[in-house]
Amino acid sequence: MAKELDTSIQYLSGVGPKRAELLKRELGIETLSDLIHLYPFRYIDRSGILPIAQVAPDLAYVQLQARVVSRTLYGPSSSIVSQESNPIHWGAIKRLSVIVEDASGQMEMVFFKGIRWNFQRLAPGSTFLFFGKPQAFGNRMNIVHPEVDVPQEGAMSQGALTGVYPSTEKLKTGGITGKVMCKLQSAALALCLPEIQETLPEYVLRDRGLVTLPYALKNIHFPKDSYALQKATYRLKFEELFFLQLSLLKQKYIRSRGERGIPMPRVGADFHACYNALPYALTGAQQRVIKEIRGDLMSGRQMNRLLQGDVGSGKTMVAVLSCLIAIGNGFQACIMAPTEVLAQQHYANIQKYLAPTSVQCALLTGSTTQRERRGIHAGLEDGSIGLIVGTHALLEDNVVFRNLGLAVIDEQHRFGVDQRAKLWAKGPAISPHILVMTATPIPRTLAMTLYGDLDVSVIDEMPPGRKPVQTMCIGQNRRAAMYKFMRDEIARGRQVFVVFPLIFESEKMDLKNLEMGYEEIVRAFPLPDYKVAIVHGQQSSEEKNFNMSAFVAGRAQILVSTTVIEVGVDVPNASVMVIESAQRFGLSQLHQLRGRVGRGAEKSYCILVKDVKTSKEAQQRLDLMCATEDGFEIAEQDMKMRGPGDLEGTQQSGLPISLNIASLAKDGQLLSEARVYAGQILEADPTLKAPQNAPLVRELRKDKYEIKDYSKIS
Ligand code: ADP
Ligand code: MG
Repeated sequence: MAKELDTSIQYLSGVGPKRAELLKRELGIETLSDLIHLYPFRYIDRSGILPIAQVAPDLAYVQLQARVVSRTLYGPSSSIVSQESNPIHWGAIKRLSVIVEDASGQMEMVFFKGIRWNFQRLAPGSTFLFFGKPQAFGNRMNIVHPEVDVPQEGAMSQGALTGVYPSTEKLKTGGITGKVMCKLQSAALALCLPEIQETLPEYVLRDRGLVTLPYALKNIHFPKDSYALQKATYRLKFEELFFLQLSLLKQKYIRSRGERGIPMPRVGADFHACYNALPYALTGAQQRVIKEIRGDLMSGRQMNRLLQGDVGSGKTMVAVLSCLIAIGNGFQACIMAPTEVLAQQHYANIQKYLAPTSVQCALLTGSTTQRERRGIHAGLEDGSIGLIVGTHALLEDNVVFRNLGLAVIDEQHRFGVDQRAKLWAKGPAISPHILVMTATPIPRTLAMTLYGDLDVSVIDEMPPGRKPVQTMCIGQNRRAAMYKFMRDEIARGRQVFVVFPLIFESEKMDLKNLEMGYEEIVRAFPLPDYKVAIVHGQQSSEEKNFNMSAFVAGRAQILVSTTVIEVGVDVPNASVMVIESAQRFGLSQLHQLRGRVGRGAEKSYCILVKDVKTSKEAQQRLDLMCATEDGFEIAEQDMKMRGPGDLEGTQQSGLPISLNIASLAKDGQLLSEARVYAGQILEADPTLKAPQNAPLVRELRKDKYEIKDYSKIS
């Protein structure tokens, strides 16, 4: 079985040991199967050749068929070194200019790299296909680093579309040109296609109108026409997303069936006491999420739920009511926050909510004194403390619970998986239920993929009374006007955040940047009329708390800080968020920062101050911020602009999975559809034991669908 597919690429005619090595090194291709799963990333429409006379700089990509007229090699500062003949020193050559012509006119092709190779192959008199983006240079048109191909005589494909494969300079110089790659694919397909077995269940194919796998593979490489290509692409994307979801969901099923959870059948008196005393009605979304959580807690299986909700959507209340259910069933609960300030704020709020109940609540952070600590440790061990709020300090080994039933983790992207595991271990014999909350609006498609093993709840509705934040983007020339505006707001009793980005590599330099900004603000807002507080990452936690509380309590009117305030801090009286060098921030960060205002004051403002050097991409982000306040829309756009790999939280490490043809950013709809089928199949056969599911298991075994490194996620 599957003999040809596993054959080493070396034995394919036209490859041999040297090229095999090259293919392995450059593209990771070792077997015929690897080869036929390398798809073209673009197709050249051979019928679409543009006359040179019609090339204009506003065209995206163009394909020309033209004859080489002349070649010129330039050295430093555009001195002509050589025309048509090999130069003495290739090392001195900076640029190759090639003039080409067709019946309609002439234009220039420019190379800064691969000069020697291109000089040698682009011999005057020969004709090539040039593909690239034209640009105006002075009053002439040129293409920099066009793709160059030899016009094909229609040998490879009957259709007009020719695939263009990923390639590298080394592959090309090693003889594996686009044309050769097409030949290899053609030969490999001829051997492999008879062996290719359908991977998707018959009824899914029928239901979705998908073409078969052999047809799809054939047409992804050599499309019969653009319709066939479309069908092939759709099928292969669907397949990839389907198996990705099947793999993730399967892990989830195994986990949820395997992990026994603490059954919590009751709601309890404390829940009702708190609920009935709430100063507001829960939003529909909050109610729905609490129901989902209740369902989990009653089920007897361990809950692993991710709660997503934009800043200010009211996640805390959901956390508190969930904790009260655990407490109502005789268990303890904890809420863990990423920073001390946030833990304190939670504690203060939660105590208010708990007033009508009999629950005893405590706060444990890095700055809790030894004496308090002893009391808290004792209270947790004997169970008299029902709910504990805290920071990482909760994870320390000497924190022992009598019976922890539920752990809530706020703002999860600051916590690693290890820490989640530590919390698990703090339960009684059975792991406690886990609720992870995040305000980072991860696009649904990405959440579904990354958190396939978690259940996801979304609060997609804001509590009534949140005020829209007016956002504007200004240049440095309007700084004076901005200061006046800040003074006016302060005169009305409001407070102002001023946030500086991290700019430099070193913390020292960043601090300097922040301090310079701080000094400028202090000059513009001098004592005794104004008090400006400053908070940054290098302060001791005492210093930080002191400054932060000065602002929270209203003793300081302005808070200058780095992004340490990004998460969760609630100062309803603050009405202005000034973001300095706003072009340096990512979209989700800007959104988080803006979420700090609009929480109380009748009208709030976010002022994005940009520097002169603002790239087009950065300007797009700023424009989007001015255009919408919808966190999910911002997240979707963010992902489209940057690609999912850069999304906050996964930024440093990239995604833990790599897809071959589908895109998480663009194929969200297809991902959801594929997930439905994967879910149905697992529902009926959770372990995929049924004979008709054997092909699925076989496919899953190819480890490409496995997320290997979960630490890249949280
Ligand atoms: P986040 O989701 O960002 O953690 P919070 O839980 O801090 O949001 O809630 C933001 C604010 O909204 C708090 O002041 C809270 O009291 C208030 N709030 C929460 N739920 C509601 C509701 N249903 N109606 C009115 N206000 C609410
Ligand atoms: Mg919060």
